[in-house]
Amino acid sequence: MEWTLLESRKETNTTKTLLFKPKTKIDFEPGQYFVFHDLVDGIEDCRAYSASSPPTQEHIEITVRLTNTPHFSKHLQELPKGYMIEVKGPYGDFALRGTPEEIVLISAGSGIVPLRSIMRYVLDSALPTKIILLYSAKTSESIIFRNELNKLAQESKIQLLVTLTQEKGAYEGRINADLIKKAVNDVQKPEFFICGPPLMVKSMLALLAQLGINSKKVHSEGFA
Ligand SMILES: Cc1cc2nc3c(=O)[nH]c(=O)nc-3n(C[C@H](O)[C@H](O)[C@H](O)COP(=O)(O)OP(=O)(O)OC[C@H]3O[C@@H](n4cnc5c(N)ncnc54)[C@H](O)[C@@H]3O)c2cc1C
Repeated sequence: MEWTLLESRKETNTTKTLLFKPKTKIDFEPGQYFVFHDLVDGIEDCRAYSASSPPTQEHIEITVRLTNTPHFSKHLQELPKGYMIEVKGPYGDFALRGTPEEIVLISAGSGIVPLRSIMRYVLDSALPTKIILLYSAKTSESIIFRNELNKLAQESKIQLLVTLTQEKGAYEGRINADLIKKAVNDVQKPEFFICGPPLMVKSMLALLAQLGINSKKVHSEGFA
């Protein structure tokens, strides 16, 4: 289906959010992704991007971060307003279903993207679900949705713990068992949603298994 780019906005030096209007309304679950198809330098190509907006919003946003060797991500970030692009989906089992009492969202880098969709969906729908977000970023400047997340935390709508790996901050280093135990009273209670680079996802899955958390309560997505 064709989607039209309505606008784009800068999130960080390497990240942009793109707002699209699909030709007809699309139902998706918060956390799911779409596959964008286009010609890049005359060659057909495609990549997966999670919705960063919730299904409760009229149009759909994706949030694209440039990698070290950007190709499709650069192409998307440079699209002009009004551009029409072929998109397929939604896809994926990484999605919030039902109304858990508590969710713990664990992200590194651009892994925050589908978690923002989940968070905004819970808040827009006024679900009674408690949201705890653990977010690992390199520096404070590289925190995607920084102002929005800080505002939600100040308004006590989410519990936010950011840990920085290349800068001093309230918390430093990667997400570990201590940080999880600090944020969550009873680790057996919540559903966990992990998203980030595949190696980070793998290490978080191992960590949660070590904490004795039932794998049925753990959902994960690697941005490979
Ligand atoms: C299910 C799914 C959902 C995704 N959602 C998003 C999203 O919401 N936002 C987003 O920016 N990307 C997302 N990605 C990654 C995206 O599909 C592309 O892989 C990414 O934009 C790089 O494409 P490229 O053509 O620019 O670079 P490529 O030439 O394809 O890749 C460059 C290098 O960067 C690595 N890489 C790929 N993606 C990332 C990443 N996100 N962070 C760090 N390194 C990476 C690759 O392994 C490769 O070594 C998602 C991937 C999957 C599988």
